[in-house]
Amino acid sequence: MADDLEMQQRRLRLKKSLEELQKMRGMGTELVTVIIPPDRLISDVRGQLGQEAAQAANIKSKSTRKHVADAIESGIAVLNRYKNAGENGLAIFVGHVIVGNNKSRLVTIVIDEPPEAITSFRYRCDSTFELTQLEEMLIDRTAYGLFVIDRGEAAYGVASGKRIHCQEELQSNIMGKHRQGGQSAQRFERLIEEAAHNFFKRATEHACSYWLPMIDDIQGIIIGGPGHTKDFVIKNEYFHHEIQKLIREPFFDVGYSNESGLRELVQRAGTLMDQIELDAERALVDRFLREVMQAHPKATYGEMMIRSSLEQGAVDTLLLSEGLRKRRVGWNCKPCSHQWETTQTSLSDIPSCPKCGSEDAREDPNRTRDIIDELTELAGHTSAKVSLISLDTEEGATLYSSFGGIAALLRYPIS
Ligand code: ZN
Repeated sequence: MADDLEMQQRRLRLKKSLEELQKMRGMGTELVTVIIPPDRLISDVRGQLGQEAAQAANIKSKSTRKHVADAIESGIAVLNRYKNAGENGLAIFVGHVIVGNNKSRLVTIVIDEPPEAITSFRYRCDSTFELTQLEEMLIDRTAYGLFVIDRGEAAYGVASGKRIHCQEELQSNIMGKHRQGGQSAQRFERLIEEAAHNFFKRATEHACSYWLPMIDDIQGIIIGGPGHTKDFVIKNEYFHHEIQKLIREPFFDVGYSNESGLRELVQRAGTLMDQIELDAERALVDRFLREVMQAHPKATYGEMMIRSSLEQGAVDTLLLSEGLRKRRVGWNCKPCSHQWETTQTSLSDIPSCPKCGSEDAREDPNRTRDIIDELTELAGHTSAKVSLISLDTEEGATLYSSFGGIAALLRYPIS
């Protein structure tokens, strides 16, 4: 799903920016954070920064005063590039950051496509950047359906990140049924089973109509309950067939079939839920590892091979490790105007011009991007699928450490 990948990329970009920002410190309270929700007018924010700049003139320390003024000025320059805050808002981090012994450098980091909407405006000047609102966007929101049942009651809901939501608790009337005078034991038994059937049907139907509208976000359905009723209900396919496919095993024994039962279910199923999430990644890397050992593998790895396979349109699925910290940099040679690209691991090293040998080259910001974004775009040209692989599985770690974090399953073997 393309949207899904786009969202993963945004989250990863945010994660990388936050990694850098978390380390940054100012000499004094001179790092400026401006966080702008989508509905806030850029002109208002510019006005406010103007006022803050005027206030900053009262700062006693001369160096802090100058640094704060610089930061606000750069912040305003960033704002001037935008007509509005965009669909999810805009965050600007700017200030003189300590880079070594008593040295500082003016740094500007802009996050303009956060994965979720910014909710509240913040201006802050401090010795660190304020990141809480953005850090919260990285909390896992993958959802699991939860269902607990016995013959007396049932409950269902969803778990997402650390939150558990109980949508409904239901009671059966089976337990309340008593055999009446003149009723045969057989007839009584049949009435009980009919009541049980109706209850199972009601509970599963309610749960399904709650889950079905959000089925694309649900990774799995986790089942629990005190006795054997849960097994009976699953075996007899009470659930909608689309939901039935998502049911994960094993089922869990929990004390009650109510809201507290749902909480207990999440505690017990914790590892299962982690596994489910990583299963898809693991399966993909496994396929790659098996393929790459064949004589004429429909798989390849390494940046050079991947670029050439992408160019030929041979890539079926591109596997990119979330551990990758590389940029594809576009260079302009000053003396001879030659333009070329390299993959860089750090900001510092400037390569010499392949044409004239000069070391006087400049980065072209319009041609410079994170390598994950760049390769994803290349993949799009030949409709290759892209999967970002975390470092949370052994397979994912292997992809990064042994294959450089860039690999592909191919449509056909290349030589
Ligand atoms: Zn040159």
